[in-house]
Amino acid sequence: MSSTVSQYNSTKYNQIHIPGSIQPHGVLIALSASLEILQISDNAEEFFNQKPEDLLNQPLTYLFGASQTQALQEILDTQDDSNFLKLTLETESGERYFDVSVHKSESSIILELEATLSKTEMSFLSFRSLMGDVILQIQRTSKLNDFVALVVDKVKSITGFDRVLMYKFDDNGAGSVIAEAKLEQLSPYLGLHYPASDIPEPARQLYRRCLLRYIPNLNAHRSHLIPRNNPYTGQPLDLSNAILRSFHDCCVEYHQNMGVSALLVISLLQDQKLWGLITCHHSTPKYLVSEIRTACGFLGQIISLELGNKLINEQLDYKNKLQSSQSQFIASISSADNLIEAFAHPDPRLLDIVSANGCAVCLDNEITLVGATPNIEEVRKLIEWTQSNVDDDLFSTDSLPKIYPSAQAFKDTASGLLILRISRIRNYYILWFRPEVLQTVNWAGAPDPYLDSHQSEDTILNLSPRKSFELWQEMVRFTSPPWMQCELESALNLRNAIVGIVLTKTDELAKINLELERSNQELDSFAYAASHDLKEPLRGIHNYSNILIEDYAHLFDQEGFEYLTTLVTLTQRMDKLIDVLLRLSQLGQTELRKQPTDLNNLLSQVIKVFRASRQGENFEIRIPKTLPIIECDPILINELFSNLISNSLKYNEQAEKLLEIGYLDISQQTKQQKDIPKSVILYVQDNGIGIYDHHKEIIFRLFKRLHPKEKYGGGTGAGLAIAKKIVERHGGKIWVESTYGQGSTFFFIL
Ligand code: ADP
Repeated sequence: MSSTVSQYNSTKYNQIHIPGSIQPHGVLIALSASLEILQISDNAEEFFNQKPEDLLNQPLTYLFGASQTQALQEILDTQDDSNFLKLTLETESGERYFDVSVHKSESSIILELEATLSKTEMSFLSFRSLMGDVILQIQRTSKLNDFVALVVDKVKSITGFDRVLMYKFDDNGAGSVIAEAKLEQLSPYLGLHYPASDIPEPARQLYRRCLLRYIPNLNAHRSHLIPRNNPYTGQPLDLSNAILRSFHDCCVEYHQNMGVSALLVISLLQDQKLWGLITCHHSTPKYLVSEIRTACGFLGQIISLELGNKLINEQLDYKNKLQSSQSQFIASISSADNLIEAFAHPDPRLLDIVSANGCAVCLDNEITLVGATPNIEEVRKLIEWTQSNVDDDLFSTDSLPKIYPSAQAFKDTASGLLILRISRIRNYYILWFRPEVLQTVNWAGAPDPYLDSHQSEDTILNLSPRKSFELWQEMVRFTSPPWMQCELESALNLRNAIVGIVLTKTDELAKINLELERSNQELDSFAYAASHDLKEPLRGIHNYSNILIEDYAHLFDQEGFEYLTTLVTLTQRMDKLIDVLLRLSQLGQTELRKQPTDLNNLLSQVIKVFRASRQGENFEIRIPKTLPIIECDPILINELFSNLISNSLKYNEQAEKLLEIGYLDISQQTKQQKDIPKSVILYVQDNGIGIYDHHKEIIFRLFKRLHPKEKYGGGTGAGLAIAKKIVERHGGKIWVESTYGQGSTFFFIL
């Protein structure tokens, strides 16, 4: 860090561009447009052997003669923002050479002169030898980490400073040391963090404007401008772009506390923004020839450029990594038969999708934790909180405890939260967690042995890296590393993929259903044709058998005659079976004629038929409450009730057979029935023989009977199969609940 003001008045900092003074290793001259000296630094005598007061209002030719002044004028005419040239001063003791920087500030022209030994510009060859293969090596390094390490190393060897650091600013302006090259005996600063307030905005602005800042001796006394205010503007001269501009007290104190006497700072820009700084420290004053500074300035620009490439590459690499974790995870859940099952036992790769340290998957009330997370109860409460406070499908925060104070208790695992709602109908969520940022940082901030022997404890603590680090720690309490845009996108992509998988599965199901429906229809029409065609030869067999019995009985002996009668009974039975098949296939093929049907009327007709056909039988059919009017095919529903009532009477050994027909209110529905969409559940209940649990499914299959045909008046075993088909044609469901020996209740929903 090159300046700090956390403890200083910031208004003072707003004036750092007009300090009215410069560093004394150079001399500053402010010229009018006609190149007359308006202001000059008070150290001018050391450079020009003339009192500054004597030089004021003199033309520049007075110092440097006509031809050099003419050369300067030509440079000024180029309209460039800043320029460099060499000037020579003739003195009694011989020639003196200066490296001169020229730029315009408001209505003045500012010349900054530093004494040099050489009269000529640096040649390309010497520049080439200074840079060596640095640029080539920098370009060849592909990984950002290797790149920053190489950069600080090279800057250290070019400048010869004791320590070179690379700082990076985060989105909030806080800084951290990401690379360091140093003398072995110095304690490390790598990993050091400091708050944004350490480099206030005015200082950042200057770093953006002047890409190279050089302070060869922090302990040197400043040289003041004479006069203090510019005669044209009446204001202090704006030295924003002056390379000799003097530095702020805080900067001096801070660096002195670090044992630094010389400083060189190279700004690193990305998209016109200050991305970071390369800062060089030296424990004693250090003067760099202008060639080396020029090389550093040039290198800074190359580094900024290369940094841009590396950052883009690194971001691409990271996005690829996220994408690959995402596709691996999605592949794992889409190959799992049951998506819910896959989420109930989540793959740890779920963490990599957004680079989280922990994750919770919530499927309604079932919560599964992966990695470092708060406990189940804490997660449950957090989900409840998000349900009433978060409306979006994706929500993220890097400071959960600040908006949800209960999270302070688990800041170590969940200072950062990213929550993805998978379903709006069901409570399906994925929550990702990140720990407090402090968990991820380790800078010991070890006391520097050199400093401790030279400084009092107080100064070290008040304005020092250690103090900054503490302040930074205070500021990042309860915050996690931020969620990046690409991580949020990765989470959203996962949601889309899950929705996609669910849709595909629904699609597949729909296809299977369609296919089933088609093959059912084919089967129905095949069964219809087959049974229809079978009827005719059967009728023939039946008729001829009857003729044999009636007209040729005398030709058979007793045994032969019995065979013949069995043949007739068998044809009758077969005829009945074929009728059932025909009925079933018809049911599958005919259009439903649905209409609003009053079940009370329908049942009174059905019951009337039963009473007529079963006179003498002792049975009662109760209908406890008026039945509803429902949308159905009345003929089929008549058949359905007939089948059920017939069975209830058939499979009943009670002296008084009791039947009840009714419907359930939704409130009466049992837990199992609650899965069924809200609709009327009708039932036919009897006090008959009952059905064993293991028979409850089989009885609905075609031709399945639980009793020999002689018992209970024997049926074909088709009644319930037809009942089921009728219910299913209405899009409904039929099932039985029964206690063996006590009776059965057939429920159905249409
Ligand atoms: P069937 O036409 O032979 O009666 P169903 O398909 O109607 O054939 O019934 C199949 C079997 O289910 C019957 O053989 C009988 O054992 C059993 N069953 C049907 N209804 C009842 C009932 N209400 N109580 C007891 N058992 C029944």
